[in-house]
Amino acid sequence: MRTSFGPAASAGSRRTVLIAALITAFLLPLAARARTQPATTLAGGRWFKGNTHTHTVNSDGDSTPDEVVRWYREHGYQFLVLTDHNYLTPTTGLNAVHGAPDKFIVIPGEELTMTVATKPVHVNGVAIASIVAPPNGSDVVDAMQRSVDGIRRMGGVPHVNHPNFGWAVTVADLARVERLNLFEIYNGHPQVNNAGGGGVPGLEQMWDQLLTAGRLLYGVAVDDAHHFKRPGDPTAAAPGRGWVYVRADALEPRMISEALDHGDFYASTGVELAEYSADQTRISIKVKPTAWSKYRVQFIGGGGRVLSEVADGSASYAVKGDEGYVRVKVLESNGLMAWTQPVAVGRGGPARH
Ligand SMILES: [Zn+2]
Ligand SMILES: [Zn+2]
Repeated sequence: MRTSFGPAASAGSRRTVLIAALITAFLLPLAARARTQPATTLAGGRWFKGNTHTHTVNSDGDSTPDEVVRWYREHGYQFLVLTDHNYLTPTTGLNAVHGAPDKFIVIPGEELTMTVATKPVHVNGVAIASIVAPPNGSDVVDAMQRSVDGIRRMGGVPHVNHPNFGWAVTVADLARVERLNLFEIYNGHPQVNNAGGGGVPGLEQMWDQLLTAGRLLYGVAVDDAHHFKRPGDPTAAAPGRGWVYVRADALEPRMISEALDHGDFYASTGVELAEYSADQTRISIKVKPTAWSKYRVQFIGGGGRVLSEVADGSASYAVKGDEGYVRVKVLESNGLMAWTQPVAVGRGGPARH
């Protein structure tokens, strides 16, 4: 089901590459040109709900790994990544107790946690083979880059966390990090400034600025849960606030992490999709409705412009070819949301670095 990500770059001979380039330049209509985005459809795979950012007593969480995993297992998740600060919480024993084939897995992870000139720089490593030491970066970008490279050396997939926590990471910083495909567009911790303020853009606005500037990053929603024993406390970093639905062939750590890295997922704070399909010509979406909710669907393009808004949970958009990118945001009547990943379109569309 997954299509290739680049044009014919890996094709054998120089002649093949030349022919492919000619076809790409002259024969394919602009809107149908394959860039870095695979076609995505809910019908084409299995979707797994998971959270990629969680803490335990092995760093500054208030509950044991067993208690934390149990919470997610009992609340309808299929996978959980444990990401303690600069610590790799072992997962073998947890999977022996809580794991079940096709139903639930715990994926090893770590939140590389650094302070660079008073700024908190945090980068998650998902499905790392062993612990990654937080690097000494000369500045915020250097710290993120060294973290990303260290995580990749350990077979993991990196995501940059909560850019506005401590107002640490700017759009310009994120744009300069190479080999990074993911960053948090929503984090459930109450002190991370998702919405921005004081002249600093919110995370979704940052996302549109990056995409408009030509940088293709995928957006994850996470809990960053620390507190499982403070129910009802609005200042707690509680679980169940942000998650992803990942499309993968099987519930296996490497397949989940690679699907994330390829943008084969959507992010949510409570909206679930029944159908989603996207290619360079059309994007269609259908929400799995709840009885008490109403929905709006926005198709958003270059510059963060709303290209089309539909006052319903089912909507479709015909790609024109000059949008740069198109992504979908679903707004539920109680404030819940879902975000699909951007589809790069046209000559000026964003690309992965
Ligand atoms: Zn953090
Ligand atoms: Zn965290």
